[in-house]
Amino acid sequence: MSLGEFDLIARYFTRPARRAALGVGDDCALLSLTPGMQLATSCDMLVEGRHFLPTVAPQHLAHKALAVNLSDLAACGAQPLAFTLALALPRADEVWLAAFSHGLFALADAHDCELVGGDTTQGPLNICIGVFGEVAPGQALLRSGAQADDDIYVSGALGDARLALEAFRGTVALAGDAVARVRVAMEQPQPRVALGVALRGVASSAIDLSDGLLGDLGQVMRRSGVGAAIDADAVPRSADLAGQPLAVQRECTLAGGDDYELLFTAPPSAADTVRTAAAKAQVAVTRIGRIQAAPGLHLQDANGQTLPQVYGSFDHFRT
Ligand code: ADP
Ligand code: MG
Repeated sequence: MSLGEFDLIARYFTRPARRAALGVGDDCALLSLTPGMQLATSCDMLVEGRHFLPTVAPQHLAHKALAVNLSDLAACGAQPLAFTLALALPRADEVWLAAFSHGLFALADAHDCELVGGDTTQGPLNICIGVFGEVAPGQALLRSGAQADDDIYVSGALGDARLALEAFRGTVALAGDAVARVRVAMEQPQPRVALGVALRGVASSAIDLSDGLLGDLGQVMRRSGVGAAIDADAVPRSADLAGQPLAVQRECTLAGGDDYELLFTAPPSAADTVRTAAAKAQVAVTRIGRIQAAPGLHLQDANGQTLPQVYGSFDHFRT
């Protein structure tokens, strides 16, 4: 590398510590938690060719790498505090690094989440971010809390990231302006941190949608020991996706993956509180079904007709 490892870290990934007691530069970072709070932590890795296309702009890649991690904090209702960045780079390309660092800190600052450390090495492009957040004991939203008769909601609109992927693969036809719009969904998802925080004490369970609605809902069902009935036609989608054949709409909304919206449950008595939380977080939420005591998934259309369950979830070792 022309630019040395330490210069690279100093130039692109070091900023004065803010909330952290100690940031980048020593063997460990030191974080001061609000007394009595629990630390929520998660990490997610992005691998070229697996999670992103080689053509993605570096600022968008950085955004997404952090966004998918913030989305995990959101799903727990945790308030972001800090993150670490482990980066393998083929070469120290300063134009690339400047754009990457710009995209990274733009999203980090929007959520007041501080970069406190990491690791940098030469190798095939690989980005692994670890996030830290805090939540009061007993307040974290879990996958395991769904109860029979709870309503099932999702935030935002689902399926556009998958539609973008299919457009790039050439399996669907999309107009140029539509491609630009769905590409934003794929490359720059907005983690629903404010919604997760607003749903503390309101939602009975939550998960963020990374592997497709039905697969992720299956996680909630398993962990909660319940079943669910979903109205496939109620799942919110963009106008771009709604212009596609119904089979494409269903595949993208039900099994698309990479949505980074929240799926959550709440008792019917909390419906107004859910609306208030969504309004506070300035995110649309839509009721798409109901939790059932009997195990298994019942998928139906708007007319109540049962739909065949042909929608799998994304599995890195099966696809
Ligand atoms: P060590 O060998 O003790 O793990 P390193 O030499 O790898 O430390 O890193 C030096 C400092 O720079 C550490 O504080 C580390 O957390 C930080 N660091 C390394 N890479 C990054 C990065 N990509 N982003 C932020 N901080 C980083
Ligand atoms: Mg050390």
